Amino acid sequence: MRWRQYKIARERMVREHVYNRGVRDPRVLEAMLRVPRHLFIGRDAGIEAYADHSYPIGFQQTMSQPYMVAYLTEELRLSGEETVLEIGTGSGYHTAVLAALSKTVATVERVPELAERAQTVLRDLLFSNVEVKTDDGWKGWPEKGPFDRVLLTAAAQQVPRTLLSQLSDAGFLLGPVIRADGKQEIVRLIRRGGKVEIERLIECSFVPLIRTVGRAGRSKRRETGVSRS
Ligand code: SAH
Repeated sequence: MRWRQYKIARERMVREHVYNRGVRDPRVLEAMLRVPRHLFIGRDAGIEAYADHSYPIGFQQTMSQPYMVAYLTEELRLSGEETVLEIGTGSGYHTAVLAALSKTVATVERVPELAERAQTVLRDLLFSNVEVKTDDGWKGWPEKGPFDRVLLTAAAQQVPRTLLSQLSDAGFLLGPVIRADGKQEIVRLIRRGGKVEIERLIECSFVPLIRTVGRAGRSKRRETGVSRS
């Protein structure tokens, strides 16, 4: 009987927090109706996992709010053929939604326990087109690239150039950056040959992308100053 309560909770989540707020891509709605969000929390969150807010997953991290997962996924414009790199696996919930809508997903998480837990849940749910690794996402995952899409799920002061260099031509990176005024906004950075075009989307609030490489010396040359412009 319980699976039915979760199904009802998913339908309500998608109707009230996703569709009614303007995300209408049927493929995104379908994926979010299917992926059992409550399984990605790591303890029994019950129906609360489907509420209209982000959810703590330990290690001072959160699983993103359903609307934000839906919004970003719709903005990724996935047809099913894309190679995707996600930086910040977290719970693995968004990873699962991406995996349902693209060809392959490579996802990088700096907290080993989160990466392992996400990998286990994704395996149990039989997602065979996902690879998870524990590492610093600032480096991307060059061996798996180039990527048609790169998704940041944590907010960066500046977007690492390394990630842009792993995009295929006309591919784009999507994610939150921290502006000079301290507020965050979602940006889309589209690679066109040697150039990068910027589109600014909505304001948002994400946990920070922790920076552990490129701190010293060379770091300025390895970043784009998106958040400062
Ligand atoms: N979409 C995820 C969001 C998780 S929050 C979900 O819905 O569950 C962002 C995640 O980014 C956290 O798990 C955090 O540990 C991770 N993170 C932060 N900085 C990182 C970095 N430099 N490299 C890889 N992962 C990072």
